[in-house]
Amino acid sequence: MNSTTSEASTAPIPLSRKPSERGSPDAPARGKTACIRTFGCQMNVHDADRMRRMIQDAGYAEVQRYEDADLVILNTCYVRENAVDRVKGHLGELNRLRREGRVKRVALTGCIGAAEESQSLQKTYNIDLVLGTHNTYELAEFVGLPTMRETYTPELPGTEGEHSAFVTIMTGCNYQCSYCIVPTVRGRMTCRPMESVVREIENLVAGGTGYVTLLGQTVDAWRYQGKRFCDLLEAVSDIAPRVWFTTSHPSNMEDRTLRAIGERDTIVKRLHLPVQSGSDRMLNVMHRGYKAERYRRKISVFREAAPEGTLSTDIIVGHPGETEEDHQQTLQLVEDCEFDSAYIFKFSPRRGTEAADLPGVVPDAIVQRRFLEVLRGVEQNAFRRNQRKVGNMEEIFIRHGATEDGKAIGETWSGHAVHVDSDAAPGTYVTATIESAGPHVLYARIRN
Ligand code: SAM
Ligand code: SF4
Repeated sequence: MNSTTSEASTAPIPLSRKPSERGSPDAPARGKTACIRTFGCQMNVHDADRMRRMIQDAGYAEVQRYEDADLVILNTCYVRENAVDRVKGHLGELNRLRREGRVKRVALTGCIGAAEESQSLQKTYNIDLVLGTHNTYELAEFVGLPTMRETYTPELPGTEGEHSAFVTIMTGCNYQCSYCIVPTVRGRMTCRPMESVVREIENLVAGGTGYVTLLGQTVDAWRYQGKRFCDLLEAVSDIAPRVWFTTSHPSNMEDRTLRAIGERDTIVKRLHLPVQSGSDRMLNVMHRGYKAERYRRKISVFREAAPEGTLSTDIIVGHPGETEEDHQQTLQLVEDCEFDSAYIFKFSPRRGTEAADLPGVVPDAIVQRRFLEVLRGVEQNAFRRNQRKVGNMEEIFIRHGATEDGKAIGETWSGHAVHVDSDAAPGTYVTATIESAGPHVLYARIRN
């Protein structure tokens, strides 16, 4: 990890697989090729799965390099400024390849596509198609398929038949956090009907999927016809052999859900609950809707329900107005909650959000120091907690098969990322002993 960048993750490797591991396209190539590059969160990875379906149905073969592609789709993230800068770099490169006649068409999709800035990008970089997050279905027509109906609650499963799948249960977000562009680019919350989610998961499981992740910006805010998130989670955990969900909001997280994580065998005992700050003053400025003490209480319920489980969070350092006292309170919360991992972000002003215009901008050097202090706090705790796993025999779900070094990447039921010496196929389980542990990952060996 590069701790000098504007964000850091002490989290285990995300669930998404590399495009090359998603299976080769089964549709006939007919000479047309497309490359999908995805930036950002798991919602974007899932959107990419849906677009992959469309291009495959339209007869495109998926390739991994821009220079081999007739059509390039940049599926983007808009949450922080550096994400936009990265995409601009890719667009410049694509323009060069287009001038050389190697790439024919470029589409920009995802959260940047939904933002106002996309209009100027389209002009500057001659982008052929710009789509937001709510009209991804229009890609179908662009690649020569019949026009699709608009749908705000995507019915399209992403990865049916493969060992793991993301299932979107809600889109958008009803919160208005001071710093966040998501409500602007993804709109208000829409929850997908329970029967539709259950039906999709039944089909996935019948097709061989062994691991289902329920997705949404605030999954625990899901509600439908009197049912709440925990009802849905319980129903899903009765069907799927392995279940996880992300991302949750502390204000919506019910004790009942936290207890279900501990009680239900098929739910991975891993909770991602973004806190953002340990200071009540900052939580108020950010409009998070809870106080640090309430967050701590939720965590104690989770720890009691799943003592071996893993807890991760998101933290923003350097939000406008953040004082040294606020920062110290965040460090204290990190200490108290003993996170197993965290995504730590330096505040990035997003045009159109409240925080972009707030006074009290924190100087870069101070942000950098606070960032490193939070990172150090999280890593120390994570290392200490991971050490407790050494010597344990664990059942490990293989997510990525072994690379040249002979190590596969898997996940324990406690949600720890593990490197294990095994040639087992993705989607299968192995039992192995944890031999050592770093702050981010455990190392296991299968004893004969
Ligand atoms: N819905 C989730 C929640 O409320 O916890 C988070 C979704 S957001 C895409 C992921 C994370 O990005 C946030 O939890 C926050 O820590 C970070 N983030 C969002 N906007 C940011 C900004 N302007 N600057 C820095 N980090 C930001
Ligand atoms: Fe953004 Fe807040 Fe909604 Fe999360 S809850 S997506 S941080 S506005």
